[in-house]
Amino acid sequence: MCTTGAASNPFDELLKIWQSEAMTSTTRSAELREQENAAHAGVSTLPWATRIRAVGLRVTKPRLAVLDALENAPHATADEVLATVRQVLPEITVQSIYMVLHSLTDAGLLRQLDLAQSPARYETRVADNHHHAVCTVCGRIEDVNCAVGHAPCLTPTEPHGMAIHVADVVYQGVCTNCLADYTDSAMP
Ligand SMILES: [Zn+2]
Ligand SMILES: [Zn+2]
Repeated sequence: MCTTGAASNPFDELLKIWQSEAMTSTTRSAELREQENAAHAGVSTLPWATRIRAVGLRVTKPRLAVLDALENAPHATADEVLATVRQVLPEITVQSIYMVLHSLTDAGLLRQLDLAQSPARYETRVADNHHHAVCTVCGRIEDVNCAVGHAPCLTPTEPHGMAIHVADVVYQGVCTNCLADYTDSAMP
């Protein structure tokens, strides 16, 4: 679900921090430009600890571990995140995972994805209004860049007087693997 456009944007917070700092070295400005460009593409090159602090949260091991898990395996469910995080923090409880996922989503560091017939999924690619293509056979999920690049990327024919912030686009189809399986099994 593309809800992050409506929530406070963590990159706006980062930009404020960058702008409030004196930019003396040219190397530093080049670095910042690179980070800004990355931010526009929905990813940031800043370390997680810096980004957690920038949104006013405390840097904790569970938060770092959850962000790391989702950066390596986007669109994971809470259960999948729990399994990954337990490899580094064996004592962590499912409740803690949910609390961390909610706090990071509220802070705009994670985006929650609500697909039909699926538990909530999470990802670290938050700020680019990208969409998702889902295979209706095996459930494979892929990112699809937003055609327009900002939300909402569709103009409703009748907005009913609402200020529309987001158009939630999910492309559904059959992936090449599933299509190949189907073609194979259909052969005599
Ligand atoms: Zn498939
Ligand atoms: Zn995604």
